[in-house]
Amino acid sequence: MKKIPLHWKIIIGMLLGIIFGFIMNAVSGQKFVADWIAPFGTIFINLLKLIAVPLILASLIKGISDLKDISKIRDMGLRTISIYIGTTMVAIVIGLSIVNLVKPGTGMPADTIENIKLKYENDAGVVDKINMATATKGAGPLQPLVDIFPSNIIQSMGDTKMLQVIFFALFVGICLLLIPEEKAKPMVDIFDSLNEVVMKMVDVIMLFAPYAVFALMANVIIAFDDTEILLKLLQYALCVVAGLALMIGFYLLLVRIYAKKSPLWFLNRISPAQLLAFSTSSSAATLPVTMERVEEHIGVDKEVSGFVLPVGATVNMDGTSLYQGIAAVFIMQVIWPEGLGFTNQLVIVLTALLASIGSAAVPSAGMVMLVIVLESINFPSELLPIGLALIFAVDRPLDMCRTVVNVTGDATVSMLVAKSLDKLHEPHPKEWDDNYHAVK
Ligand code: ASP
Repeated sequence: MKKIPLHWKIIIGMLLGIIFGFIMNAVSGQKFVADWIAPFGTIFINLLKLIAVPLILASLIKGISDLKDISKIRDMGLRTISIYIGTTMVAIVIGLSIVNLVKPGTGMPADTIENIKLKYENDAGVVDKINMATATKGAGPLQPLVDIFPSNIIQSMGDTKMLQVIFFALFVGICLLLIPEEKAKPMVDIFDSLNEVVMKMVDVIMLFAPYAVFALMANVIIAFDDTEILLKLLQYALCVVAGLALMIGFYLLLVRIYAKKSPLWFLNRISPAQLLAFSTSSSAATLPVTMERVEEHIGVDKEVSGFVLPVGATVNMDGTSLYQGIAAVFIMQVIWPEGLGFTNQLVIVLTALLASIGSAAVPSAGMVMLVIVLESINFPSELLPIGLALIFAVDRPLDMCRTVVNVTGDATVSMLVAKSLDKLHEPHPKEWDDNYHAVK
């Protein structure tokens, strides 16, 4: 097995997991999968989440102190945020163009709508999403800003509040620059060492990735129980997938033109992170792997990747915003065509941008924030459960695809920012066993 590249091992694991899932569906073995297979996927995701916070802390604190210049931090921050907003706008415009051109929701038969409504309108998943969105909405307009500043960093770490951890790490990193170098050195050394250890943990955890994706995919397949409804929503789903594919094309163009690297080279190096994004539907769980790939296999310096990637995992969700644009217009085409004016679509551009920034990097978060997008255009609240019911059946596969785009977007932007700051170098990949022979 040693000679097969990691991404092929992961792909084989995924395919076997899919086949296994279908077989288990056929023999009514769903409970077996849930009891005996799925937990291995959960363990893997837990391990990735376990190292995400120490990794952000270590690489950001070390990275910022390496920059040795506060104006460079400001420069990097401004570039990152502007490129993130730019790519998200491109994603929303692509999404809205496709859905308005193809019109997947126009002419859907009334009995199909009725079927979907009966099946999903009161589904716990749909009701949950609406309740979660209502809870988010109740807060004041500046609450998202307030939420960036922690009062207890241990609690922020425990709750994996990414932006709070990033703020704390930036604050510590900047203050390390503001004290004399000899006083800062011991702490910088500790974080440097912690960073090496956590990166090694990523390598070790990734040894299990092919088996974990088997479990994750089998678990996804056993949840698909209504292929008939899936087929009815195929046109809508294909619009989202086509838009996401165009986004990947757009990133590859940026990689070629601005970073002057071959798109195939980029895909080859980043693919394990993309495959994990697909299997886990969570940019946050994928973050440690994205960081490892971008730093060690693409050659982005720590000081850039340590900032751009964690921020991106939280605020840059191009796939999610594209999906929100398409889903909102699709729902209107089906059940509220009178709302389909130009002004409403303009409002969707803005709210989908904000909603994607506000979406958590976890499975299904994009659908919660879709409620906010719909409410911003005064979508009738009594139609909301039906609207969400319409897209619920295909949400998981689309979530998997949009998470791939979210992660690829972050990796692309980190490359562009690194290139613009002259911090993109020849990569030096490390293996989990580089030092194993000396200690075994
Ligand atoms: N699952 C997505 C992510 O983690 C968010 C979403 O669109 O639901 O990036």
